[in-house]
Amino acid sequence: MPVPLLDVNAQNLPLEPELKLAFERVLRSGQFILGPDVALFEKEIAELTGVRHAVGVSSGTDAILLALMALDIKSGDEVLCPSFTFFATAGCISRAGATPVFVDSCPICFNLDVADAAKKLSGRTKAIIPVHLFGQCAAMDPVLGLATEHAISVIEDAAQALGAGYKGRRAGSMGTMGTFSFFPSKNLGGFGDSGMLVTNDDTLAERAQLLRTHGAKPKYYHQFVGANFRIDTMQAALLRIKLQHYQTYTERRQRNAAFYSERLSKLPGVFQSHICSCGNNSGSELPTGIQLILPASHSETEHIWNQYTLRVVGSGRRDALKRFLGEKGIGCEIYYPVPLHRQECFRYLGCDNDALPIAMRLADEVLSIPIYPELKSEQLEEVVAAIAAFLRK
Ligand SMILES: *Cc1c(COP(=O)(O)O)cnc(C)c1O
Repeated sequence: MPVPLLDVNAQNLPLEPELKLAFERVLRSGQFILGPDVALFEKEIAELTGVRHAVGVSSGTDAILLALMALDIKSGDEVLCPSFTFFATAGCISRAGATPVFVDSCPICFNLDVADAAKKLSGRTKAIIPVHLFGQCAAMDPVLGLATEHAISVIEDAAQALGAGYKGRRAGSMGTMGTFSFFPSKNLGGFGDSGMLVTNDDTLAERAQLLRTHGAKPKYYHQFVGANFRIDTMQAALLRIKLQHYQTYTERRQRNAAFYSERLSKLPGVFQSHICSCGNNSGSELPTGIQLILPASHSETEHIWNQYTLRVVGSGRRDALKRFLGEKGIGCEIYYPVPLHRQECFRYLGCDNDALPIAMRLADEVLSIPIYPELKSEQLEEVVAAIAAFLRK
């Protein structure tokens, strides 16, 4: 049985009757811009996240850009962000006119290394963007501590972490602002592009709302230069249907991750660490003979497993495993093959590879395997069997 990396139809088609009803309701309403469905979707996301305000926007990328614009981050400012993340995090900093300053990552949880962030602060640093990569929160207490000490803003890029937890708080609710994406491959996957900005700050929420519609208030009177960052009404109505099932999706992802971790950890050459160097530990040396490192879910976080990401140790081994799984009809992907400081568009920054060793290493070692909620147990078994066969080679 083939095992795709993601099967959106397996999730969406069982909801077809409910989705059709929502579609028809919006169609007949004739209202396709903002309106009650957007307001209700915003309220529901605010409740799930535990924040006062949510602003529905056109994409996860635009949510980050809008957050930076609401904070008035501009040319001459610096913003800290990981090098090992999706491009949008840093791309938005550039689009706001500011300069991304790349921070290294923790090799265990894949998130921003706060000690490294502290070293890269300057008098021009205005904000830090921790990314809750693969569905697990970054070490937010140290991030917030650093931000408070230096009076900088925190934008949580929670595109992959809707509903993820950190010490009882929700991703997106801990910083100055948080951003989500409903791109089809995210845990709450929509039918096209959309996203959300959340915040507990009344002033920033109002600014974000204005900037979402060209900074106009009232209509045709512009206080700020914004843009069109609105979420579609149709999209919000359809996402509200899927949101009702979100808890089930998350539980199934967690069940799949637990299955992988339980089964894969028993194979020879496989290592699972619970010690994380972005907290208080300074990282631990690997035992010898390790071929594969499993992702760790920390006790203080509630991981929602947007990705289950392995590290394949040894020169060329990651690419060999990717080929091997591909030949067996098992989908897998490299998130992300090129650290952002190595991207051509950021070459002008002159970042030194030696300064970001973990980002470089992760880009060579990571491989994400299928984790989506609707995976069947035979499919999970097949993935484990294939990895076991590869390790024996
Ligand atoms: C997906 C993603 C984004 C961008 O979201 P879009 O909705 O695709 O624009 C930003 N940051 C991270 C970490 C992401 O995974």
